[in-house]
Amino acid sequence: MIKGTAASDGIGIGRILLLEEASIEYTPHEVEDTQAEVERFRRAADQLVAETVRDAAAIRETAGEKEALIMEGHISLINDPALKGETENLIMGGQCAEAAFETMCDMFIGIFSSMEDEMMRQRAADVRDIKAGLLRILLGVKEVKVSDAPKGTVLLTKELTPSVTAGIRKGNIVGIITETGGKTSHSAILARALEIPAVLSVPDAVSVLKNGQPVIVDGTAGVVIPDPSFDVLNEYAEKRDKFLREKAELEHFRGVKTKGADGAEYELVCNIGKADDANKVIEFDGEGVGLFRTEFLFMDRSSIPSEDEQFAAYQKAALVLKGKPLIIRTLDIGGDKEIPYMGLEKEENPFMGFRAIRYCLKNRELFRTQLRAILRASAFGDVKIMFPLITCVEELREGKAMVEEIKRELALLGIPFNKEIDIGIMVETAAAAMIADVLAKEAAFFSIGTNDLTGYTMSCDRGNSNVAYLYSALQPAVLRMIERTIRCGREAGIPVGMCGEAAANNKLIPLLISFGLTEFSVSAPSVLRVRKAISKWTKAEADRVAQKAMSLMTEKEVSDYLASVV
Ligand code: PEP
Ligand code: MG
Repeated sequence: MIKGTAASDGIGIGRILLLEEASIEYTPHEVEDTQAEVERFRRAADQLVAETVRDAAAIRETAGEKEALIMEGHISLINDPALKGETENLIMGGQCAEAAFETMCDMFIGIFSSMEDEMMRQRAADVRDIKAGLLRILLGVKEVKVSDAPKGTVLLTKELTPSVTAGIRKGNIVGIITETGGKTSHSAILARALEIPAVLSVPDAVSVLKNGQPVIVDGTAGVVIPDPSFDVLNEYAEKRDKFLREKAELEHFRGVKTKGADGAEYELVCNIGKADDANKVIEFDGEGVGLFRTEFLFMDRSSIPSEDEQFAAYQKAALVLKGKPLIIRTLDIGGDKEIPYMGLEKEENPFMGFRAIRYCLKNRELFRTQLRAILRASAFGDVKIMFPLITCVEELREGKAMVEEIKRELALLGIPFNKEIDIGIMVETAAAAMIADVLAKEAAFFSIGTNDLTGYTMSCDRGNSNVAYLYSALQPAVLRMIERTIRCGREAGIPVGMCGEAAANNKLIPLLISFGLTEFSVSAPSVLRVRKAISKWTKAEADRVAQKAMSLMTEKEVSDYLASVV
């Protein structure tokens, strides 16, 4: 068994087809007729563009629109004025087209590879792909084709380039193994879009595995099993069939409302960290956004994003969601979320310290900027504001007063916004759960943040392995906090959702239904699974389970009992 990175779910069983990179060696030489050489380079570039357009069309058909855009990104790279112009300058200086283009590509690859941002590093792989493509054309090397691969083929290659992917016919390729590429690489994105199980970054895959060798690719666990025994083969064939069956079943839950077995309706929304993720919400059939973690807009940069930059992000998400709810949580920094340029002081107990709403209320300009941007975006969709880490009613009042002040300003300036915008809070501290009755009088909604609520209730830091055994949302203490929060919200007539990880926990779902939760906010890929899990429960059944679960005395008893009923 060889371990790699699990990049695309599912199990593939087949024989390896090793895609060896065609040799694109050449001897750099000086050219005399530099103008003719520039023309040769331009013709090759045009041919590569034409081939890429064709590949993009093939990918559009097999994988989808978004994946085709990756390929179209290649076209703009080939036509990039800096890359093209500088290559031509080198040729005019006497270099052959191959050497000139390779020099320029290697320079770009060096720059992109050293960048922190994963997306930028991905550009390096794209440049490598077009470098290989153009050199192949210039040297007249025949292209490697995977479109003729027989049924049951597992592709093995150093790097799955989009141009290789373009040739993949879904029925024939049952698995992909590569030596490079992470979960967010284009290879992974394309493999997932094609729904082909893939294990990437398998060390020395190309030399360890052999052409024609029987192999199992477990893209869920991230393992490759060469030469499996008969028993292992049977075991995995069963696993594969189960995976495919469950997947097909989940598809029944696409495009339908989220309902319990008794027809009770729930809202099933998503957690996002970037405006672009709103597209994923639509793709995975989420019903809106229950938590936009805005701190990610502040990370991976060197200064605070301006009001306009923030507005653009919030507006974009609102527009993509087309009227579906969008709960934007105000900045939640501190604790484990650091933003170096903001110069937060080191604290003895960062989780107990100057973070989230506490920080924002003391850094009013920063907070005002964000609130203005959110209010402006509220003219473009069903935007709501949510404050994190509330522990007392004064914090909510102070935050709301600031929103009112900004509303007056915007109204005076004639800038549109939603005058009735809802302002709700995260219930993620023990204090907020205990005064949920009080807070419910002034908050438009609650969203329970079990990630923090579990830690604060159990007084344990999940990162500390010595106390991690306490960290479970199924602890009787945490369940009581959750039950209380939902009950208080219900009694006050405000909606209560949950955006912590526990919202997607199958075991907890009957309890949440019984307590009266109305909104589940989960990661986009979990939407269909959670919709299915909810569909199994009537309120009456859930009540029966909740009554029993709440009478149990330990986390283990609760967990074992719930495992026996889901
Ligand atoms: C939570 O605490 O449950 C939550 C959703 O917030 P975050 O994970 O961003 O702290
Ligand atoms: Mg939190």
